[in-house]
Amino acid sequence: MKSKYSHALMLLAAIAAFLPVLAVDFVLDSYVRVRERAVLQQSADAVAARVQATAYEAIASLRRILADSPSLCTPSFVANVHRQLEQSIYLKQVLVENADGVQYCDALGKDVKYSALSRPLTVPNHTETLEVVQYADLRVPALKVTQSFGTARKVSAFVPVLAAEAESLVGGLKPTSMVRLTLADGAEIITVGDARAYDERGRTEFVRAESFVGELPIHVTAAVPFAMVRADYADLDASFTVVAALMCGAFLVLALQYVRKSDLPAFDLERAIAAGELKPYYQPVINLRTGALAGCEVLCRWEKKSGEVVSPGAFIEYAEVTGLALPMTLSLMQQMKVDLERLCADMPELKISINLFEGHFRDGSVVDDVQTIFANSAIQFRQLVFEVTERKPIERMQQAQSVIAGLHALGCRIAMDDAGTGHSNLAYLQTLGVDIIKIDRVFVEMIKPDTTAVPVLDGLISMARELGNDVVAEGVETEAQALYLRGRGVVQAQGYLFAPPLKAAPFKDLARALNGSGEVDPALVAQVAAA
Ligand code: C2E
Ligand code: CA
Ligand code: CA
Repeated sequence: MKSKYSHALMLLAAIAAFLPVLAVDFVLDSYVRVRERAVLQQSADAVAARVQATAYEAIASLRRILADSPSLCTPSFVANVHRQLEQSIYLKQVLVENADGVQYCDALGKDVKYSALSRPLTVPNHTETLEVVQYADLRVPALKVTQSFGTARKVSAFVPVLAAEAESLVGGLKPTSMVRLTLADGAEIITVGDARAYDERGRTEFVRAESFVGELPIHVTAAVPFAMVRADYADLDASFTVVAALMCGAFLVLALQYVRKSDLPAFDLERAIAAGELKPYYQPVINLRTGALAGCEVLCRWEKKSGEVVSPGAFIEYAEVTGLALPMTLSLMQQMKVDLERLCADMPELKISINLFEGHFRDGSVVDDVQTIFANSAIQFRQLVFEVTERKPIERMQQAQSVIAGLHALGCRIAMDDAGTGHSNLAYLQTLGVDIIKIDRVFVEMIKPDTTAVPVLDGLISMARELGNDVVAEGVETEAQALYLRGRGVVQAQGYLFAPPLKAAPFKDLARALNGSGEVDPALVAQVAAA
């Protein structure tokens, strides 16, 4: 339970650790938008200020002329107009006309050529009106600022919308930028730069800034495609990613440390195997007829430096998933050889059972490993049994068969572990080449003190016998169970009634004590088990 929880925690931590890398784009996008909008805003404000300067100069010039002139088109009026033309850098022309456009006089004494590009708009808080016009041969549109004189006359001043070259508007900006002046009613005055994409595509793809020209009904928009400005931050992108990757690394280390501290026993397994902390324990298998020791099953225990002994339930699945099961089994076999070589030489009928994992069938190297480890040892191949659990279905049947054939060829035998708990039937297992059936504890548990028959168990036993398999009963805890099994012809059994899995030394003591003696002496077993 704890280990499942820790795995989930580790997974979460690992996912969380990668968030900085995922966030890089988002953060950088937002950063670029904010920065570039500020740059554009400055440009838009600057353009607005320039337009404002010319327009207000036209208004001011016109007001001065009218303040100094009691009547229109008189020599003193024309003189006033000329003075303003000289003083102003923007003012191009002053014109007196009536509401129908009939011209009365102007500064230069000729017909004034202009055409309206917009309706006249009022300027809030001003008596003047404003109109965009094409004036003479000016390359940019002009503003026509008009003041009424009496009821029948209008006096207008003409200034270019922009005093400088229009192209200078986008001078400081990216080549793909555009700047547009519009009137409050939406009519376009002038656009500079590349506005095609801006008009065609959605405006969300652009970084945009807007500005107003004082109180005038004129409005400045500046825009640049986001992709263009974003591309300029490629360098930053790289460094952001590096920083984020470093953060990920740091997070990951912290997360792993946290999980390690959370005392997940499996976590250290690799180091533990290398350090030889995984020890083989030996659970005796007893001959129920003679009481002699028939052999043992190798079961692993994690002996921590702290003295704590961890049962395989806490790490066996982890070992399987991570592939550590293979080096673990290898280490157990090597230690077992050292532990039991003498004993096996002295008792050639002793059988030693080793548990295999599903991974051993995928990998296949176990046959070579067994050969290498035991070839020159006093332990004969015919003394080795390899257990294959029935709990998990074997996925790669062919590979399993070839591994089993390899072990058989050496002279080893195969036991079906936990028989009766899986999905496969015994006849089918026979095709796998199984020699021994280990009947699972759950069936043995069904034998109570007064039980006379356990149909499932009895069925299993007779089926195994019909198939010609030896039978080992697991988890025998009571004398009643041992007697019942013996009554059904089961010869071998293992379980707490005889002994739990033991360390090498007490196991060997027990083996030698049982060797040759006809009966199991429970007092000795208890004594050895307690050691
Ligand atoms: P298993 O192969 O079925 O091993 C028998 C388990 O039953 C052992 O648990 C053993 O200690 C326990 N047992 C023995 N007698 C009795 C009894 O009388 N009553 C009860 N209640 N239990 C008894 P253990 O050692 O905790 O191992 C659990 C499982 O872990 C094993 O089940 C086996 O599937 C796996 N395992 C242990 N060591 C290894 C190994 O080296 N390799 C592989 N592949 N699996 C292993
Ligand atoms: Ca087993
Ligand atoms: Ca078993």
